[in-house]
Amino acid sequence: MTKNILVVGEHADSEMTATTAELIGQSTRLAEGGAVSVALLGCCATDVAPQAFEAGAGKVFVNDDDGYTEYNSDQWVTAIESILEGIDVILIAQSTVGRDLAPRLAARQGTAAAMDCVDVRSDSGEIRVTRPCYGGNALADYSFATSPVIATVRAKAFEALAPQSGASGETADLPALSDSRTTIEGREVAEAEGLAITDAPIVVSGGRGLGGPEGFGDVENLAAAFGSNRAAVGASRAACDLGWYPVSQQVGLTGKVVTPDLYVAIAISGASQHMAGCSGSKMIIAINRDPEANIFQNAKYGIVGDYKAVLPALIEAVKAQS
Ligand SMILES: Cc1cc2nc3c(=O)[nH]c(=O)nc-3n(C[C@H](O)[C@H](O)[C@H](O)COP(=O)(O)OP(=O)(O)OC[C@H]3O[C@@H](n4cnc5c(N)ncnc54)[C@H](O)[C@@H]3O)c2cc1C
Repeated sequence: MTKNILVVGEHADSEMTATTAELIGQSTRLAEGGAVSVALLGCCATDVAPQAFEAGAGKVFVNDDDGYTEYNSDQWVTAIESILEGIDVILIAQSTVGRDLAPRLAARQGTAAAMDCVDVRSDSGEIRVTRPCYGGNALADYSFATSPVIATVRAKAFEALAPQSGASGETADLPALSDSRTTIEGREVAEAEGLAITDAPIVVSGGRGLGGPEGFGDVENLAAAFGSNRAAVGASRAACDLGWYPVSQQVGLTGKVVTPDLYVAIAISGASQHMAGCSGSKMIIAINRDPEANIFQNAKYGIVGDYKAVLPALIEAVKAQS
């Protein structure tokens, strides 16, 4: 059954986000011949539109007004609502924007939003989604009783299509900025060096078992051995609460959700609240001196031992491979 799908795109510094490309890719698989369109709001949206076409979109709605650049619920919801005629499915990234936009849009449309999905598929023409529940310890499948279907989707849940260089399509305007009940007074960007843990293909995380902030030096050395352009350092909440590592790097239920190709958990017990942030990793390797540690239940490979003894050899081995 054909479906018309709208992806609410995100972009920064004239680059469409990788997650937007992934959502467009999955939309082309789900549409079964229906239309795949993308909405791009804010500064330079028109410049970004070709990237959406190359990722597989057939139509791109744009408005370059700088007033849209900072996400504002009232204005974004009003703009997106204006292009929903005939739309069956709306896919949005599980990002700061998506977390706010999806439920608001669902309330205005009288439909439901499934948040934080790790899969969106078509079963005999019916859209079904999968989302983690119980802190990531189980997966729940949902179907929808209302339309349009709205889902926010985790980064890296889907593969983007290979970019179709030079692809083009139809461009249409999103409406002018509407009035808003709120104004954005300022914006502070958290200081962070290197790759964001949410984007890095490899995340190396440390926990309370490191014994102190100096233990993170070893964790950083392992990340550096993988390459600063590939690996980022994360931490458990216990380590962040102790002030050993910045809260911006916390992985878990109350931290960031990461879905890297490789997650290395060093001296982390693997509490369910931590696993909620990393269980979507393609592979988990754990280093822990307790053979009964919960993290080994989730790890593909486990090394039982003191991290101080294990890490130097591991770092050398990684350097030899890189
Ligand atoms: C509402 C709520 C939200 C939460 N949100 C989060 C969250 O977002 N993220 C998060 O991480 N936690 C979160 N927590 C906390 C969570 O329950 C755990 O307390 C926390 O994850 C434990 O961190 P840890 O594994 O670093 O420490 P511990 O549980 O103390 O584990 C340390 C591990 O290190 C091992 N170890 C010790 N020494 C060594 C050594 N020398 N070499 C190798 N291994 C060693 C130990 O065997 C142990 O397994 C939350 C809790 C609640 C209640």
